[in-house]
Amino acid sequence: MKRKSGQNPDITRNWKPATLAVRGGTARSEYGETSEALFLTSGYCYDRAEDAAARFAGEQTGMTYSRLQNPTVEMLEQRIALLEGAEACRATATGMAAMTAALLCQLSAGDHVVAAKAAFGSCRWLVDTLLPKFGIATTTIDGRDTAAWEAAIKPNTKVFFFETPANPTMDVVDIAAVCAIAKARGITTVVDNAFASPALQRPMEYGADVVAYSATKMMDGQGRVLAGAICGTRDWIDSVLLPFHRNTGPTLSAFNAWVVLKGLETLDLRIRRQSENALKVARFLEGRLSKVNYPGLESHPQHKLAMRQMEAAGPIFSLYVGGGRAEAHGLLNALELVDISNNIGDSRSLMTHPASTTHYGMAEEARLEVGITEDMLRLNVGLEDPNDVIADFDQALRAIGR
Ligand SMILES: *Cc1c(COP(=O)(O)O)cnc(C)c1O
Repeated sequence: MKRKSGQNPDITRNWKPATLAVRGGTARSEYGETSEALFLTSGYCYDRAEDAAARFAGEQTGMTYSRLQNPTVEMLEQRIALLEGAEACRATATGMAAMTAALLCQLSAGDHVVAAKAAFGSCRWLVDTLLPKFGIATTTIDGRDTAAWEAAIKPNTKVFFFETPANPTMDVVDIAAVCAIAKARGITTVVDNAFASPALQRPMEYGADVVAYSATKMMDGQGRVLAGAICGTRDWIDSVLLPFHRNTGPTLSAFNAWVVLKGLETLDLRIRRQSENALKVARFLEGRLSKVNYPGLESHPQHKLAMRQMEAAGPIFSLYVGGGRAEAHGLLNALELVDISNNIGDSRSLMTHPASTTHYGMAEEARLEVGITEDMLRLNVGLEDPNDVIADFDQALRAIGR
């Protein structure tokens, strides 16, 4: 019986991402099940006391406790590592658990971090509030400005942290250029790749050291569970991340890992179709509004760079309705098909007002500095027929006089 699929590196080396997304990491039980088994177990039993001792001593392979290992979670970790082209991956309970662990596991009091200003609200909170609380200094810069990364380096700089495209301004960071600057100074780059997913952008191919995910978004893709993942070299995962991860316990549940495994099977299909749909909707909205921030549009100032490092621009973009909060909320309230929701990566079209939701916790000054104004909205384009989404925007824009 062929129990294992996607675990022989001599064979999987030639598999394309769409194949890896369906088969990578599969480890079948003695029953030979087609779909991955869901192991809802917190612990494991041993035939003899000596076996338990040997496993804890690392002299015998096998699982000991689900905070440390679980067969379903391990299948997901292997599949994500294969998709990313990473040596190893560790799954986490949420995307924020991934970002927190990826940073804290390698930082100590006295270290310095440089981070892009345009980022997910909670990622900014880590940089602006959590790290300084533990004596880790941080500098935030315009991530689009490659020279600003170099200029912000101090003798104690340990980490560069950014997302691209960034939530919700859609700023694009030149991954290869910024990683090259970091590499030359022995700085570790941590890239939050939630918006693109490994189906559209693989930062390690451009020199990133660590790639972290909210798997809640494109990887689940159907708005069901929260999950996260951290990818790196085998040595970094084992020696830097694992001691932190095993002892602090941001572990992913087996059930959620199973849901994300199922989500990954359709990731490639979904993200390509959603990117096509997003481009159609963005082109329509560009004709009606003063500004649409979508890296897939030629009008995006970093369109060429985005298309060089991404295979498609993804399902998410932001737009400005003009006016203020009243106009932005008015458009949201007038939509019939598109839901008001702050989630992204879903197969449903969802829209939110970042200033009053995802970026509510960020100081107003910091919001305005990166372009999160009161009239900005962020849209996730789903798998519906894009003509229906366009028709919905057409009627809602007319309702607010646009
Ligand atoms: C959603 C998101 C996160 C946080 O992920 P959760 O799974 O919600 O914890 C981090 N970074 C980016 C870019 C995100 O979009």
